[in-house]
Amino acid sequence: MGTRGREIIGMNVEELLARLNRAYASEWLAYYQYWLGAKVIKGPMKDAVAAELNLHATEELNHAGLLAGRILQLGGVPVTSPEGWGKASPCPYDAPEDPYVAVLLDQNLAGERCAITAYKALMDATEGKDMVTYNLALTILEQEVEHEEDLQNLREDLDLMVERGRR
Ligand code: FE
Ligand code: FE
Ligand code: MG
Repeated sequence: MGTRGREIIGMNVEELLARLNRAYASEWLAYYQYWLGAKVIKGPMKDAVAAELNLHATEELNHAGLLAGRILQLGGVPVTSPEGWGKASPCPYDAPEDPYVAVLLDQNLAGERCAITAYKALMDATEGKDMVTYNLALTILEQEVEHEEDLQNLREDLDLMVERGRR
């Protein structure tokens, strides 16, 4: 923790830490949902989709690392146990119980849309008050927007493939 770095924050630091921890918890859930989804996946285009899910898992884990770094920098404590992730996260964990490609894509798409909404809210809350967190949220948001696009494109390809296969 750095004293001056904390002093320049123009908002309640405890509230900021709570927001950062909610995002941190969401990233772990997103990581695990992608990671397990890539292993259980079944159906058409499963190899291409699994590769994307694995890549996204890695990126979500990196987001968790960035958030943990900021939390510690501000003198906070990242959520200490996995049981805390589900409680703190604004985006629900959606277990990959049905391994069909389209179902996994839809579940992860819903997760990305929730993440985009959450990072937009974090940016709105920190704009002009904490430039470091604002910039961090923007960096992560850029990647979540990319994730949504990737999944949506794969979902469209899958639909086209299944539709063509019927003719
Ligand atoms: Fe993420
Ligand atoms: Fe994502
Ligand atoms: Mg991607």
